Amino acid sequence: MTQVVRSRAELRDALTSAPRPIGLVPTMGWLHDGHRELMRRARSENRTTVVTIFVNPRQFNESGDYTKYPRDEPRDLAIADAEGVDIVFAPPVEEIYPPGFETTVSVGPVARPLEGAARPGHFDGVATVVAILFDLVGADRTYFGQKDAQQVMVIRQMARDLAIPTEVVACPTVREPDGLALSSRNVHLTPEQRAAAPVLRRALLAARERWEAGEQSAEALREAMRATLASEPLAEPDYVSVADGATLAELDRVDGPALLSLAVRFGSTRLIDNEPLPGS
Ligand code: AMP
Repeated sequence: MTQVVRSRAELRDALTSAPRPIGLVPTMGWLHDGHRELMRRARSENRTTVVTIFVNPRQFNESGDYTKYPRDEPRDLAIADAEGVDIVFAPPVEEIYPPGFETTVSVGPVARPLEGAARPGHFDGVATVVAILFDLVGADRTYFGQKDAQQVMVIRQMARDLAIPTEVVACPTVREPDGLALSSRNVHLTPEQRAAAPVLRRALLAARERWEAGEQSAEALREAMRATLASEPLAEPDYVSVADGATLAELDRVDGPALLSLAVRFGSTRLIDNEPLPGS
């Protein structure tokens, strides 16, 4: 049975008798198969698996996005239990940010472009909460989705800089059969928007195909993504990017590891996806 804890003290008590290594999976709940894959990987590589469920107010730059973020804790706990998770930490906001909380963890250049530019303050919120969770859980390994590729890079940088001895493991993106990356936000799509949403994946694959055929101009790859997105009237592109795989600086030429990524709005729902290009 999964043990559910809600306070720092309860978490500490539960961890005292937990065998190591400990694997941590931080989530914001509304669990889907992408989260399940992270839990399975954590279970397979550790003796104790801890899942956190916390909709972190500090990482939402639009307050409407925070209030309408989907929540269903009983369902989430049933999923965690079915996946054999040992401990779920599902704290109220004041347990993570007690009165008088005044610190922000702000990661450098890798947090600035892409999602950092489109969502001011987002990665400060992510890095701050993840630093707290890393400290509270003291995990040996922690599991994140490649779907949020920049987030993985920001957290790796943060853990390295703050000397946090938790290994950051990136896990492949889990998709619907039509290619749409699973996301808690998909629930907000209307049936028409849902039918249009696989265009993100198609755009990334169009650019990838051009790259595999030998195209090295980053602008040509961006144009391939834009052209695919333009074929779908419900898709409103926020950005398309071809960036350096280590720094996320926009590229002119692709001649090493790179990241194709995009953010697209369907009405008020904003979706992201990406495709890494290995060095050739
Ligand atoms: P979230 O609850 O959206 O904050 O996501 C919690 C973790 O699950 C993050 O590390 C995400 O990158 C990861 N995740 C979300 N969607 C997927 C997916 N489709 N495939 C793999 N991992 C995912």
